[in-house]
Amino acid sequence: MSSTTTAGRPLAAPPLRPSPPASGRMSGTLRLFRVSGIDVEAHWSWTFIVALLVWSLADAVFPEANPGLSDGTYALMGTAAALLLFVSLALHELGHAVQARREGMPIEGITLWLLGGVARFRGSFPSAGAELRIAIAGPLVSLALGVVLLAAALALPLPAAVDGVLLWLGTTNLVLLAFNMIPALPLDGGRVLRAALWGRGGDFGAATRTAVSVATAFGRVLVAGGIVLVFLTGTLGGLWFAVIGWFLLNAAAGEGLVALGEDVHAGPRVADVTIHDPVAVPAGTSIERFLDEIVVDHRHVVYPVTADGGPAGLVSFRDALSVGRGERGGRRVEEIMVPLARVLVLDADRPLTEAVGELLAAPLRRALVSADGQLAGLLSPTDALRALEILRRA
Ligand SMILES: [Zn+2]
Repeated sequence: MSSTTTAGRPLAAPPLRPSPPASGRMSGTLRLFRVSGIDVEAHWSWTFIVALLVWSLADAVFPEANPGLSDGTYALMGTAAALLLFVSLALHELGHAVQARREGMPIEGITLWLLGGVARFRGSFPSAGAELRIAIAGPLVSLALGVVLLAAALALPLPAAVDGVLLWLGTTNLVLLAFNMIPALPLDGGRVLRAALWGRGGDFGAATRTAVSVATAFGRVLVAGGIVLVFLTGTLGGLWFAVIGWFLLNAAAGEGLVALGEDVHAGPRVADVTIHDPVAVPAGTSIERFLDEIVVDHRHVVYPVTADGGPAGLVSFRDALSVGRGERGGRRVEEIMVPLARVLVLDADRPLTEAVGELLAAPLRRALVSADGQLAGLLSPTDALRALEILRRA
């Protein structure tokens, strides 16, 4: 073995700290209010949708449904109806959130966005029964709102403007209820389906895979149907179906990944696929010597670089090759390495599925692995993905 490597020798201080994990909070949101400790936030797309909704209600929907009122009244009706609709959506999501908390699941918050709301939970569902109750709690709120609002509109002697708003709001809550009960993850109906399959078969992973394929099928039908509608009717109304279908396809794929991650929490850790004694290169080594001795001997793609007995960065043989032949003798590895500050450092205890996304986005697609503040080794995507693939087929 070449004398320039430090393979097998423990690397001393300074302590190697893991890179901060990527934040789970949705970007582009603003906080609206807080109910019983749960943050209700809105995505930026929400303001755009509220404006669009007010305009279409005041300009078309209410003048048609309640003729003979003034423009000012229509504007007021549109504003009130749009805001109350979003209150309804928030109540629907709070239904999920409150039930989830009863089941012992921590809530991160509620985000209202383009197509409704999302209640964000932390952790995984404790049981099939719990998921079923959490999934059904939101639609039950919508059902109650729809029934009460319609009953009020029909039974009470109200002014025409108020009557119109209540009628529209009650109907819309029932339409949203029907949409949410489509058995396509991550819609509530999809969660009900998954919980039912999970409860019957006892296998969360298998239930998720079935529910995701059902959701994917629904998504494809909506996209195709929407496009066909556009051509048949010559109007853009069908685009809505296509957009919702496209959203379902993306969201279903995301649900599949999350479920795989939950399966794998009991599965491999970063430590399990770490290369423990990687061939390391001292920072002062000339590029020529690095290529002629270390790369030729070991044929790895990326090597950790060390300085003063501790990790200093990562160097790839491709970057070394891109240095002109004439310059290789005079330049050092530290000049072309990715410095430690930019290197992804993963804790050896992290679940592998969680770490793999960060690994694929990291410089040189490699991570240093730290255990108790010490360099424990190197992680490559080939090893990580192979381990996950074996697990998926098991
Ligand atoms: Zn819901």
